[in-house]
Amino acid sequence: MQGAVLSCGEEPAPTPGAESDLSFSREAAPVHPSKRVLVLNRNWQAVGIVGVKRAFLLLFREDARVISNAKDAHALLDIAQWLELSARHPPAPEEETLATVRFPVRIPSVLILSGYDRLPMCEVHLSREGILSRDECTCQYCGQRHAESELTIDHIIPRERGGRSTWENLVTACRDCNERKANRLPHEAGMRLTRRPRRPPRVPFAAAAAREGRFEAAWREFLPVA
Ligand SMILES: [Zn+2]
Repeated sequence: MQGAVLSCGEEPAPTPGAESDLSFSREAAPVHPSKRVLVLNRNWQAVGIVGVKRAFLLLFREDARVISNAKDAHALLDIAQWLELSARHPPAPEEETLATVRFPVRIPSVLILSGYDRLPMCEVHLSREGILSRDECTCQYCGQRHAESELTIDHIIPRERGGRSTWENLVTACRDCNERKANRLPHEAGMRLTRRPRRPPRVPFAAAAAREGRFEAAWREFLPVA
């Protein structure tokens, strides 16, 4: 998986002897536009999300197997077994499939890589939820904890004055503090931050994906609940 670009943008180090054309790529047009496939490393840890085309490339090159849920147990199927399963149990009409000359092939939901055992770390996506989580739902001016619905996101340097939406310029603020500060810098409003806002540390892919709610039902057991 040389140059593999995972969904979080993390790029694992090249694996010696790996095929360069196995790289994951956002640009690679998926065969099916909507279906996404979760990829686990060989330790069953989620490491990325790929499109259908990439998923089948991994299967055909025997770099991955399908995790198939059968009778409450996981079966690992190689590409031949997966094709056989698709032929024996045709997918439902509403199910997304890969059209082939002979028969429609089921699109797997989760793959497990055979040789890759790293756990890439990912940036946490900048969002309201991310800011609240970093600040532990605590107003960064008065230090009081509130329910999420009671909190606002404040630009330390106001947008009107060139302040950007970054981890370093966004903080959690209660409504009272946000109103009091208004479009001023903290010191102009006689306010102080309780701590300097920073970009949160990178987290394993599964945690980042879970925080962003990028779930599909079949992935649930492989991603921690947000
Ligand atoms: Zn406050």
